[in-house]
Amino acid sequence: ALVVRHRMRSSGKWARAMAIVKEFEEKCGTPVGKLRQVADAMTVEMHAGLASEGGSKLKMLISYVDNLPTGNEKGLFYALDLGGTNFRVLRVQLGGPGKHIIHQEFDEVAIPQHLMTGSSDELFDFIAAALAKFVATESEGFHPAPGRQRELGFTFSFPVRQLSISSGTLIKWTKGFNIEDAVGEDVVGELTKAMEKIGLDMRVSALVNDTIGTLAGGRYCNQDVIAGVILGTGTNAAYVERAHAIPKWHGLLPKSGEMVINMEWGNFRSSHLPLTEYDQALDDESLNPGEQIFEKIISGMYLGDIVRRVLCRMAEEAAFFGDTVPPKLRIPLILRTPDMSAMHHDKSSDLRVVGSKLKDVLEISNTSLKMRKVIVELCDIVASRGARLSAAGIFGILKKLGRDTIRDGEKQKSVIGIDGGLYEHYTEFRTCLESTLKELLGEEVAENVSIEHSNDGSGAGAALLAASHSQYLGVEES
Ligand code: BGC
Ligand code: MG
Repeated sequence: ALVVRHRMRSSGKWARAMAIVKEFEEKCGTPVGKLRQVADAMTVEMHAGLASEGGSKLKMLISYVDNLPTGNEKGLFYALDLGGTNFRVLRVQLGGPGKHIIHQEFDEVAIPQHLMTGSSDELFDFIAAALAKFVATESEGFHPAPGRQRELGFTFSFPVRQLSISSGTLIKWTKGFNIEDAVGEDVVGELTKAMEKIGLDMRVSALVNDTIGTLAGGRYCNQDVIAGVILGTGTNAAYVERAHAIPKWHGLLPKSGEMVINMEWGNFRSSHLPLTEYDQALDDESLNPGEQIFEKIISGMYLGDIVRRVLCRMAEEAAFFGDTVPPKLRIPLILRTPDMSAMHHDKSSDLRVVGSKLKDVLEISNTSLKMRKVIVELCDIVASRGARLSAAGIFGILKKLGRDTIRDGEKQKSVIGIDGGLYEHYTEFRTCLESTLKELLGEEVAENVSIEHSNDGSGAGAALLAASHSQYLGVEES
């Protein structure tokens, strides 16, 4: 009798755990009708954000990039890419017409955690020092032309109100960054000050968001690229808009008739988004409550933590991992998206990768195959929701541009350049995004739309934009 009662009790717990998963799955649902509503809401907000400053949660920031690379760019340029967990410095030798990138070198440095939430001076001093070290490694034959100042494209992957192509003030921090005294400051001014302090003579010729760098880098290789999307630690998109369609732009009409817009779509929010209590809790406990809601259900900084939160609830309310809640499970952000991805892609029959991640990351051992299967299922729910919503965002951009249909039988190609670790390394996420975009576009239109992985396009893109905004443009080399 005792054994039977025990079995009943544990099967009751299992049922309770499954009910938690089921309810979560339902709340995360993204049927195609809902995705269409999300895309429509996105286009509505795009219009509102373009109409007036502060008109929408979508900031639709004007980038001052009204010309994208043509392939004629020439010379030695530097780029600096700051925004995720690492920052990179690049040196690019551009060959001019028909020659493209002749030579490229880079260095990658992890940003110490304390600098992400310290002071502006500390962060920029650190960056300038790393840049100076990299400049010192310039090899024979790869120097700027004699008498010329070194020029830099600065990829700064946070919302910035641009004052010109080469200056702009930080609106707010996102992702893991929170450095109060930098908000409202011109980030180029901050970097320049730090460079001057150590005697590094370099001019920032272009300040760009990573989405814009990705768009520029993509366009350099393929003239059909019309948008750049980042799916990494954070998420965002930029695209080429007709200047006429930007009522809030009061400047001169650019010759090209175009202007690149940094949407800052991470801050998108809509009643159509499938949000759960776990997302609410994640947001409440984040560095930026109430902000970046789209980002918090899509991007790499957060996906693993959503899984952790559901598991924690299952441990608390259904004793999923036994009589006590594994203490590590309560630590925010401990389950990172790369760990989640490794579990999600586990193809072994006993799901041993899931087992070892649980053990190594969360100190949970002795999980049954049945439990591991549920955990893979959870990863799938969270990743699919993010991937499908990203596809809806891209679909929204195509709609805004009238590229979601075939006009007058014209086969106009649209290419979206995508970069970021989430897209690059999380295969299930990537394939789900791609198939969802096809689903939204329909077979015929989908033939004219493609996604290209723009591998580190954002760094090279910034160097290209530095080249096309060089102070020496039109000046012959002496
Ligand atoms: C930032 C964007 C950036 C994106 C991807 C977001 O958190 O607000 O500016 O493009 O992350 O790095
Ligand atoms: Mg990046």
